Amino acid sequence: MRRIALSLAAACALAGCAVSNTPYPRPITTTIAPPAPNIPNIYTSAPRAPLHSELFACNSYGSNLGLIGQRGEATNYTPYIDTPAGPLLRNPTEVACLSSGFGYRDIANGGGRQHNGVDLANHDGGFIYAAADGWIVVADYRSGYGNYIEIDHGNGVRTRYGHMAEFDSNLRSGVRVTAGEAIGRMGMTGNATGVHLHYEVVVDGLLVDPINYGAPQPFQTTPVTQMYQEPIPIAPVEADTAPPPEPPPTSQTYPEPVRLQRPDR
Ligand SMILES: [Zn+2]
Repeated sequence: MRRIALSLAAACALAGCAVSNTPYPRPITTTIAPPAPNIPNIYTSAPRAPLHSELFACNSYGSNLGLIGQRGEATNYTPYIDTPAGPLLRNPTEVACLSSGFGYRDIANGGGRQHNGVDLANHDGGFIYAAADGWIVVADYRSGYGNYIEIDHGNGVRTRYGHMAEFDSNLRSGVRVTAGEAIGRMGMTGNATGVHLHYEVVVDGLLVDPINYGAPQPFQTTPVTQMYQEPIPIAPVEADTAPPPEPPPTSQTYPEPVRLQRPDR
């Protein structure tokens, strides 16, 4: 052993080995951070979103309500929005009515500015649900929006929820949520004059009307009434077997001339 050590020292002396006292770096650990603790709260056991078959206007004088039927129902409402990310809930609330629609609000109905979502109101609050599967982008307080959640559903589709009284404290950026999962409760935080959800839908970077986007047109000029399972064969057109009509008279007929006879003498 001593001979080997001596020969190594001699070799280093000959070759000029650089000797460093710098310790080797510790090996890089690749352990995955443990998931955030999911602290049980009211959202852990909250019921999932009900599917609302209709959406009624809160009152007839709301702004930008769009087409409203005789019973007060939003005519274009359907339960789901068809998007590139799949279906989204049009009304991701426990119970609510439509108090304001999407689009430009005139001076008389909200101050002469664009309304980028719909307002779904309920004096008593209630749960707010994730409109579809996705990942939390923001779960924070955002000035005018108040308590605010934004969910990325993929394929360029996002939903935004504002004015919430609170949201599930377990939600933070990157957390996975499932369709219909309770994420918060309706409130009036931020710039809100009443308890409601301000709901925005983004498709390909554009804010779209959550009530009318992708909804079928309320009126069809040519409604489809076909009820048969199989196509109906076309009956052959029958030949015209009726006798040909009488030809019109080609010339006027005159009475035969009467030959004059010489009278007998
Ligand atoms: Zn709003």
